[in-house]
Amino acid sequence: MNNGLADALAAITTALEAVKDPETGLGLVSAGRIKGLAKDAKGRVSFALEAPAALAAAYVPVRDAAERAAASQFGVTGVTAVLTAHDAPRPAAASPAAPPPSPHAAPPAGATRLRKGEGAAPPASAPAQSRRPEGVPGVARIIAVSSAKGGVGKSTVAVNLACAFAALGLRTGLLDLDVYGPSTPTLLGLATAKPETGEDGNLIPLNAFGVRSMSIGYIVDVDAPMIWRGPMATSAVRQMLDDVAWAPLDILVLDLPPGTGDVHLTLAQRIPLDGAIIVSTPQEVALADVRRGLQMFARTHVPILGVVENMAWLDQPDGTRLALFGEGGARRTAEQAGVPFLGALPIDIALRQSGDAGHPLVASAPDHPASRVLFDIASAALAGLERGPETTVTIRFSDD
Ligand code: ADP
Repeated sequence: MNNGLADALAAITTALEAVKDPETGLGLVSAGRIKGLAKDAKGRVSFALEAPAALAAAYVPVRDAAERAAASQFGVTGVTAVLTAHDAPRPAAASPAAPPPSPHAAPPAGATRLRKGEGAAPPASAPAQSRRPEGVPGVARIIAVSSAKGGVGKSTVAVNLACAFAALGLRTGLLDLDVYGPSTPTLLGLATAKPETGEDGNLIPLNAFGVRSMSIGYIVDVDAPMIWRGPMATSAVRQMLDDVAWAPLDILVLDLPPGTGDVHLTLAQRIPLDGAIIVSTPQEVALADVRRGLQMFARTHVPILGVVENMAWLDQPDGTRLALFGEGGARRTAEQAGVPFLGALPIDIALRQSGDAGHPLVASAPDHPASRVLFDIASAALAGLERGPETTVTIRFSDD
């Protein structure tokens, strides 16, 4: 994606907003009806129109109007709009505060989905089909690396963990979903590389240090000012999962944006995550957010593989150890929550320099003490995956 594509998606979004939602009277985008808006390199546009099941038939002309609106935009060569219908009550727009539906839960009663090209909606009483997300074909495990705040070293941990998995012999992918601040291109030394498109139209991940990676930063100019609207972030996430030649992979590591928002919501709906790792610094102020992050994953039934404490201390030249951000907070939070504590990484200039140079420490200096901690974290995460979701802990905090 480039700025041209971002502009094109913004123009299509505006055109779709001009089509009114019959139920709420709002524009289709504001009404939260449009999902997964995407445009490929050949100008083909796709999106889903989510309609209430009871009114599904009434939305067929709306879908047609939305298709026409998108088709009239510059550079659009074709439009595929998929009408989906479900009878769960829906908010006017996706709210990051609202708990997303569980990817592992049974489908809501009456959930139906129309296939591409179907002309008419089924009656509201049509038998339910599963809305459970299907994962990514050919990818055995998908784990997320997450943090409550930016700048805590989440991407550094994600990239080095991916390199550790690869060094351990796993076919590994890394998907940088931090659409607001993609750093994988820098961390993997791929800032100027561009992915190619395969014959099937799917993007081919870039390969570095044995890790196959994809990032919005490979496609857009990360230095150009970018305004991401919720639907655009959502569509970028879906494209990077669905339109990338990931298979075959033993493990795909997702580098999530900090906090909880559109990307997390899309993921929870789109993908059955096998586990989540939360990265935090030790100070108390960060930990309340960590607890919220833990609860978000618990609510969406994503097994918590554990918490990593980053920037836990600084070894000073005189041999003393300085706890710059306090001591052991992330470990205590993990213990209180009953989730595994995966390890603590010090502040180490080698981690920062190797990241800036695009040579992840685990790959460039596997015997460095910080690399050894990262290998231990990778092994602990794999052990958690092996134990499986039945060991998922129930998280209860008295202060939340
Ligand atoms: P996030 O993904 O949470 O925003 P990054 O991984 O981009 O954070 O890290 C932010 C900055 O901190 C980067 O410059 C990175 O090199 C540096 N950094 C991260 N962890 C460490 C560490 N343990 N020691 C030294 N520098 C670190």
